[in-house]
Amino acid sequence: MHPIQMVDLKRQYAHIKESVDAAIHEVIDNTAFINGKAVQDFSGALAGYLGSKHVIPCANGTDALQIAMMALDLQPGDEVITPSFTYIATVEVVALLRLKPVFVEVDKASFCMDPVALEKAITPKTKAIVPVHLYGQAADMEKIMAIAQKHHIPVIEDNAQAIGGDYYFSDGSVKKTGSIGTIGCTSFFPSKNLGCYGDGGAICTNDDALAAKMRMIANHGQSIRYYHDIVGCNSRLDSIQAAVLNVKLPKLDGYIAARRAAADYYDKAFAGHPNLVTPFRRPNNKHVFHQYTLLVEGADRDALHQYLADKKIPSMIYYPVPAHRQKMFAAFGSDQQVLPVTDWLTSRVISLPMHTELDQEQLAYITETVLSFLP
Ligand SMILES: *Cc1c(COP(=O)(O)O)cnc(C)c1O
Repeated sequence: MHPIQMVDLKRQYAHIKESVDAAIHEVIDNTAFINGKAVQDFSGALAGYLGSKHVIPCANGTDALQIAMMALDLQPGDEVITPSFTYIATVEVVALLRLKPVFVEVDKASFCMDPVALEKAITPKTKAIVPVHLYGQAADMEKIMAIAQKHHIPVIEDNAQAIGGDYYFSDGSVKKTGSIGTIGCTSFFPSKNLGCYGDGGAICTNDDALAAKMRMIANHGQSIRYYHDIVGCNSRLDSIQAAVLNVKLPKLDGYIAARRAAADYYDKAFAGHPNLVTPFRRPNNKHVFHQYTLLVEGADRDALHQYLADKKIPSMIYYPVPAHRQKMFAAFGSDQQVLPVTDWLTSRVISLPMHTELDQEQLAYITETVLSFLP
């Protein structure tokens, strides 16, 4: 049996080695390392894939969120509503920009922002809402967008874990996650569903003015070289990363299908088990399974984690400490916030290996081992 990895990028690369190597070499041959043709091609292709008018490539997913928030002209002390049950990057940029993170509860089944909690948290100081499509499942965007529009608050989607996901609206229309809110942000960190071979990120929007502004912010606040109109930063997707992404973007739907097939295998093996809750799949979205995350109930989650490690099966706790309990937010007093669902989930989640290369033998071994631990 092939050794089991949380994410097996080596085996994935083996299938695309020739095209990736050729694409990287072309960049080197042309020495167009920064903003070369590969970057232009990728931005256009991603805009087409997402059905979004503008794509602004940038250095990573965290920068994407930062640039989006900078473009909204938020003032120190303005409130940004986000879940606490997320990766720290979502919230870190809020604090970095001297804005105030307001953490809301997630829905117990989908692990994503609870729209009822969102509406309750809105105050006159709320200036942005940042839903996270956690583990590859879309937040309930129809409800979130309706609330945001009612209160005239922009929505920044954190789509780092869900690129390629679909959201089905009740009027029958379908949109890609990340293309629904005012701005969508994503990451091409190697282990993400569309990963490059280093760091990378992108922002998308249908708003022409915001797109122009975010392009400037990502490029030292200039649109004409050496004329800097606003304070920006330096955040670029380099051409070598774009070359890798140009090979991988056309394969993304196939990669998602492989992840969903692995998730189906897990679901079937664990169905109805009294100690396991398999991932909920909200009917109005296509889950792209960035993670396959179980809830362990009535059994020792941490002992299961160790048991799997002993049997050479990696597993992860995403995330062991929710954002509102992180020391970095102590100054905001966020640990005083009462988020029982978030705390409850934090003590029960465990993510199993999930990637595009899991084979039947590995899946059988993983599921049998998990089941052998349980009473
Ligand atoms: C990975 C991730 C990010 C940040 O992306 P980087 O490219 O690592 O900066 C932001 N939000 C979520 C939910 C993520 O999973």
